[in-house]
Amino acid sequence: MRKFDVNTVRKDFPLLARQVYGKPLVYFDNGATAQKPQVVIDRINQFYKEENANIHRGVHHLSQVGTDLYEESRKTIQGFLNAKFSEEIIFTKGTTDSINLVAFGYSKMLKPGDEVLITEMEHHSNIVPWQMACEYSGATCKYIPLNEKGELDLSQIDSHFNSNTKVVAVTHVSNSLGTINPIEKLIEKAHKVGARILIDGAQSLQHFKVDVQALDVDFYVFSGHKLFGPTGTGILYGKKEALDQLPPYQGGGDMIKEVKMSGTTYNELPHKFEAGTPNIAGGIALKTAIDYFDSFDIQELQKYEQELLEYAESEIKKLEGIRIIGEADEKVSVLSFVVDGAHHFDVGTLLDKQGIAVRTGHHCTQPVMDYFGINGTVRASFAFYNTKEEIDQFIQALKRALTMLG
Ligand SMILES: *Cc1c(COP(=O)(O)O)cnc(C)c1O
Repeated sequence: MRKFDVNTVRKDFPLLARQVYGKPLVYFDNGATAQKPQVVIDRINQFYKEENANIHRGVHHLSQVGTDLYEESRKTIQGFLNAKFSEEIIFTKGTTDSINLVAFGYSKMLKPGDEVLITEMEHHSNIVPWQMACEYSGATCKYIPLNEKGELDLSQIDSHFNSNTKVVAVTHVSNSLGTINPIEKLIEKAHKVGARILIDGAQSLQHFKVDVQALDVDFYVFSGHKLFGPTGTGILYGKKEALDQLPPYQGGGDMIKEVKMSGTTYNELPHKFEAGTPNIAGGIALKTAIDYFDSFDIQELQKYEQELLEYAESEIKKLEGIRIIGEADEKVSVLSFVVDGAHHFDVGTLLDKQGIAVRTGHHCTQPVMDYFGINGTVRASFAFYNTKEEIDQFIQALKRALTMLG
């Protein structure tokens, strides 16, 4: 296990050393995408320089090398999530792609009268595919509401689950509020009524350990790029029996057993869901990203990020006219806020001019914004390579912005 020291760790991420408008970059947009350590950048380069070939089809040496590396990556991800079988790990383009894969399958399996249960806290990626599945199948989409702390309102929890509930889809962590949801409870409720449950892990694995077998979850999805890996890579974990039930998503090469003009039989897991040439370099480099991240004690990183969050929250509360959006008891290192009388976009622009990268807007969670009666927030999201000094710079920059906004 590698000892965590933030100054050493920062040297692993070349982009963190750059400047913006002549000011040192303070990168607080980790919720949108994380920076990449040099080992990941090198891994992608190495593939194209020394190993490039298509996989799963060739007899030649390089094709075999690529196939082995890609399949090793699958095994690493299996271990990282503690999945039972490596064929339960499906490579996708990202969280959105993974959810669409599952929701498409359900659009073929659901019937009128069936219910899909989501929550008011979801990213649009975990709302729209389910609304489409309901539109195509005639099923009904229901949702669990929020409370004013930005948690799921589970006071009426049993009223949401019934024998018509066929599939439940919930985010593990809210990207706009930072809230960590009690998914164990929701998994248990879903299984009690015989429903399957998908957990959106796009904001979780970079903050804490997840064990899909211990959770007994049916589907768990995430994006490589938020976990220090390449864009265009993602994972769908599915329990074998749940994936076996699901019809294929896209048709094409690799996903077939036999193609005749009279019809096609489909390949086994995981290939049934992996049509076409995948992002080979990305998939291989995702292993490098996970190996890098997993070389630390994740609990130590988590503790450090919690210190950053507490510090940022206590400092921002000293300022006038700021309202924090999302004050759940259980949170990851995400700080969303609005400034009285100022538009989030103007605050974000004034911060940007001082080298501070934050995200502004609805963060693909418009129902959350509607619930709070706002049209967007300013969001600072911290990773383990951020520092207290950067939070000081952010607070100073925010003070200047507040003065300029009058
Ligand atoms: C980022 C995010 C998504 C979408 O991920 P993509 O990488 O854009 O596909 C979905 N859900 C949550 C909670 C997210 O934070």
